[in-house]
Amino acid sequence: MEKIRFEELNCSEEIRKAVKDMGFEETTPIQALAIPLVLEGKDVVGQAQTGTGKTAAFGIPAIDMVDPQRNETQALILCPTRELAVQVSEELAKIARYKRGVRTLPIFGGQPIERQIKGLKKGVQIVIGTPGRVMDHMRRRTLKLDNLKMMILDEADEMLNMGFREDIETILESVSSERQTLLFSATMPKPIMDIIHKYQTDPKIVKVVHKELTTPNVNQVYLEVKQKDKLEVLTRLIDMYSPKLSLVFCNTKKKVDEVTDLLQSRGYASDKIHGDMKQSLRINVMNKFKRGDIEVLIATDVAARGLDIDDVESVFNFDMPTHEEYYVHRIGRTGRAGRAGSAFTFVTGRDFYLLRNVMKYTKKKIKKHPIPTISDIETIKTSIFLEKIKKKIDEGKLEKYIKVLEDLLDDDFSAIEIAAALLKMELEIKDVVEIDIRPEKAYKSTGAEKGMVRMFINIGKNKRIRPQDVVGAIAGETSISGKNIGEIDIFDNYTFVEIPEEYADEVLSIMSKNTIKGNKINIEPAKGKKIASSRKSPDKKFSREKVRKAKVKRK
Ligand code: ADP
Ligand code: MG
Repeated sequence: MEKIRFEELNCSEEIRKAVKDMGFEETTPIQALAIPLVLEGKDVVGQAQTGTGKTAAFGIPAIDMVDPQRNETQALILCPTRELAVQVSEELAKIARYKRGVRTLPIFGGQPIERQIKGLKKGVQIVIGTPGRVMDHMRRRTLKLDNLKMMILDEADEMLNMGFREDIETILESVSSERQTLLFSATMPKPIMDIIHKYQTDPKIVKVVHKELTTPNVNQVYLEVKQKDKLEVLTRLIDMYSPKLSLVFCNTKKKVDEVTDLLQSRGYASDKIHGDMKQSLRINVMNKFKRGDIEVLIATDVAARGLDIDDVESVFNFDMPTHEEYYVHRIGRTGRAGRAGSAFTFVTGRDFYLLRNVMKYTKKKIKKHPIPTISDIETIKTSIFLEKIKKKIDEGKLEKYIKVLEDLLDDDFSAIEIAAALLKMELEIKDVVEIDIRPEKAYKSTGAEKGMVRMFINIGKNKRIRPQDVVGAIAGETSISGKNIGEIDIFDNYTFVEIPEEYADEVLSIMSKNTIKGNKINIEPAKGKKIASSRKSPDKKFSREKVRKAKVKRK
């Protein structure tokens, strides 16, 4: 994909100077494609993954387009979250640095509305806001959009995910139809296409879609971890690799609270962001993280979405993300701007099918990483520490410290003893928590043969179910192949089928949403031998061999 120099863009001298200050050398691909079209006045749809510079793609032309002489709102940018509104506003202020008289203001819920009203009264050409608060100001007539020239939906997919569709449509309908409308998003699901068709005129769609959904310079691994061991494994990985900044993702706010408390109590410089926290507090935490005062940030997907932090070295999926796209977004927080990053995903027995889905979606293999043992951590920490020592020796200026040690040597300690004691102080690991790394035995006895799980399905001969229907449905929907499906017993009103243990989670989760021969089913692990033995023997008992024979016969 083409990148071009900013000089080749038809943007103002002031902007070129500002982006140079910001360290931008050439445009990103989405900027190269979108900026010229926006400057021509076209309605534009821009799709590119996170971290590809979409903000400047609409920010640069928006800033050049507004008239600084006129103190009215000329561009409105809608963002899904407070953090993003603040972030976009800051980036735009930087780009507008040399454009005299161009003012930007973020408006969002959670901040006193009076302060925003005061700000708006000064005359702000570019307003960046969350949909709810924007509507609030429109109702109060403290935000007047009569002379709006440009309307921008940033992170449109996320706004829709968060349920802002109605609000967005209300806003779009109440602003002048003369306006230019831009829409930027990482993905283009159907509801977005609907909005595009409804509210844009002859839109030009520019896409920068990467063949690889996840950045190549991110090393992705997973660890098979039991729920109760996750925290211990997390701290071991942090101790072992000492990432500069780490981002830990949990699926719920409650879990974010829990993990943060536990990490803090273990002495990690850590804090959290999630949607229930006050705005000022979240901004405060983000700034500390950017400065490195906090090294581990624990977050939910929504709170962290789109946040632009460059130095995140490691992303931890404390909880397996529930959607493939969330995985991609989470991983996109590291390995930015060509830096190396690593992503660790914790997988419990029941998450394996999600992991498989992620690999299918990203077309990338995620390799298994062993749970670090205490001696692994010691080895790595020791070698990191010894490297540091060598560096210090090379740097010199050790006279002051040599003097102290010489006194100790006079007291009859040997140099090697002193060094060993220092090493021990630095490297000794206290409070060792044992982790049982044998795989979890998730299924109690289901009456199946060893290594298999017997499943109960709530339909049988009453729905004319035949063994081949069961095999066909399961092998068709899941990654198990027909030949690995075990014994099948079909009764009048229910069926038993044996599934190899490693596929049991997947079969349960997928088949509970699927049908057999058009019938919705209930599927669950069978309860021991009791059910089977308390009834008379099955009318038909099929072994794998018999299934095959049955198939052949019926043909
Ligand atoms: P997106 O909205 O696509 O997720 P952002 O607009 O937040 O991405 O940009 C990500 C980072 O890249 C920001 O730090 C931004 O300043 C930087 N950036 C944007 N454009 C360029 C460029 N042309 N050259 C270098 N860095 C850029
Ligand atoms: Mg963005």
